[in-house]
Amino acid sequence: MKKAALAVSIIIISIALTAFVATHYDQLPEQSNFALDLEHVRKLLRNDTDLPIGIGSLSVASGEFPGCLVVTGCGEGSYALDVRAFQLQYANGDNILIDPPHDKALNDANAILMKRFNQAAYDRVQQAMLQAQKIVFTHEHFDHIGGVVKSPNLPKLAEKIVINTAQQTNAEQANLRYPKILRDIKAIDYDTYYHLAPGVVLIKATGHTPGAQMIFARMANGEEVLFAGDTAWNKVNILEQKSKPLLANWAAGEDGVALAHQIRSLIDIYEKGDVTVLLAHDVDWLQAYEQRGLLQPDIRLEESE
Ligand SMILES: [Zn+2]
Repeated sequence: MKKAALAVSIIIISIALTAFVATHYDQLPEQSNFALDLEHVRKLLRNDTDLPIGIGSLSVASGEFPGCLVVTGCGEGSYALDVRAFQLQYANGDNILIDPPHDKALNDANAILMKRFNQAAYDRVQQAMLQAQKIVFTHEHFDHIGGVVKSPNLPKLAEKIVINTAQQTNAEQANLRYPKILRDIKAIDYDTYYHLAPGVVLIKATGHTPGAQMIFARMANGEEVLFAGDTAWNKVNILEQKSKPLLANWAAGEDGVALAHQIRSLIDIYEKGDVTVLLAHDVDWLQAYEQRGLLQPDIRLEESE
């Protein structure tokens, strides 16, 4: 009897300890080893003309993240999340569509995170993809690539989809079934940086997912923006200088160490202040960027096809 009680106690203590470590152990390094040399990125762009003149965005879904998945120590209990498509706009009418969000079915399947879905906005993003010159993804999760995976227009979109090899081969871990058209697109393969378009460079950022990348954009007015995807889900990681919890790394299959180095880089960039860090889901920062005119709360569409 005593032995059984001891065994139970040990099990309970082990579970409690594991739960504590999973939510409280912080991996943030003092110095980042993440390869993000902004001077090099700027050099890649030095001869570019006709830089993007605007950034559109459109919220398709919203919900909440449990704090214990967002930040070590669990933060404020929960954090609102917004799911937007982003659109880099050029003066000649060209657009690059970033991160087309998921459809209603995927929203329902992920109801634990996603509380609201806007069908009209989803339809508008689908329309914008038909008119875009390029479609690109920060990573291969449903809320960033789902709009393409489930698009009824996929045959028309295939030519303009820019997908990297890891994003293309990682559908399973992302719990997405890619249609054959998406699997057959010739993926891009690059080491660290990929010059996508005037003013725009992709930066490999394996961590949140194998195919994760950041997108650096230099605007015509000189502003610089780093689309950091889901490197952090909320600004709390940057402002309080804390990593994502191990629990999130395990749940999302993240490389927590790589991610912690990337978060350290974002902190350094944020503190320097010359580049705007854009986290895909942070409601407050997205709204603040709208208020200062960096981000529009809608995407542009030509009236008729
Ligand atoms: Zn996301």
